[in-house]
Amino acid sequence: MKYRQLGSSDLHVSEISLGTWLTTGVGIERDKAGACVDAAFDLGINFIDTANVYGVGAAETVLGEALKGRARDSYILATKVFFPMSKEDRGLSAAQIEKQIDASLARLQTDYVDLYQCHRYDENTPLAETMAALSKLVKSGKARWIGFSEWSPQNIRDALALVPEAEKFVSSQPQYSLLWRRPEKDVIPLCAANGISQIVWSPLAQGVLSGKYRVGATPPADSRAASETMNTMMGTWHRDAVIAAVEGMKPLAVEAGCTMSQFALAWVLREPNIASAIVGASRPEQLAENAAASGLVIDPALFAKAEAIAADIPRT
Ligand code: NDP
Repeated sequence: MKYRQLGSSDLHVSEISLGTWLTTGVGIERDKAGACVDAAFDLGINFIDTANVYGVGAAETVLGEALKGRARDSYILATKVFFPMSKEDRGLSAAQIEKQIDASLARLQTDYVDLYQCHRYDENTPLAETMAALSKLVKSGKARWIGFSEWSPQNIRDALALVPEAEKFVSSQPQYSLLWRRPEKDVIPLCAANGISQIVWSPLAQGVLSGKYRVGATPPADSRAASETMNTMMGTWHRDAVIAAVEGMKPLAVEAGCTMSQFALAWVLREPNIASAIVGASRPEQLAENAAASGLVIDPALFAKAEAIAADIPRT
């Protein structure tokens, strides 16, 4: 496993990290979630991403149990705040940030998170209030570093303008994959110029880039697409035109000497501003396959061919 510095922080995160959306505490059994965490440690994955809203606290609770007993400095833990936890509890006000960090720390059974992320931008709270609250968390030691997810370039510039009175963000968490390249235009250059790394979500397009789905076929029984708990947000990727395109990319992975999942993850990691690809896993074997994408050297000409195939996918 190779590691990359997370923005201007002192954290060095594994190029492949473990995510917990839909899986941990929600769509997969506790023992499987625990087995994935154990496998992550065995594979050199030192970075785990969660959020208070995943399973409305359940992901953090199960993760806290799975991490209990491990040396706290042996892993880098990230969580998030913003989405509703109840009718009243939502957003990035100072009161919410103070309340939600304590709830997350209790569920995670730890005194601090390494990275506390704003899950989205809060249009209803002044940015200065949010940044002051986050800065207070850093001073108190409850969060070591701060990040955001899916903020617009203008949101990012506004936050940077408040530094050094406020803490500076070190990470950005956008969706990014061979099938979703929007961050390349503005977010990546802006972040790269300001010591902010990307830690990207759904790098396998929720599993579709693994190549395991077939056009017109029933999805494998043990896959996200077949799970009523986990398949509700995969319509963009689990459709015939996308599946056919991934089918077309598979010979490129074969030529590169790796699996389709590894090819897709190595493609993400070719961009130096990406510190880590956050992958979900429903079983340890997937993590082992995905971890081996770290350090792969693949001919850029093969990547260019895959990009051309992706560019031809009809939008709907
Ligand atoms: P991926 O694109 O990595 O998809 C993960 C799923 O793909 C797995 O759960 C598994 O599902 C399948 N899979 C993984 N590896 C393989 C493999 N080698 N072969 C075949 N199938 C495989 O990411 P997610 O959509 O899960 O997102 C990753 C993480 O990003 C989340 O866990 C979360 O931490 C974060 N995230 C953040 C968001 C944000 O707004 N900031 C939004 C969404 C996610 P199965 O076996 O069930 O098919």
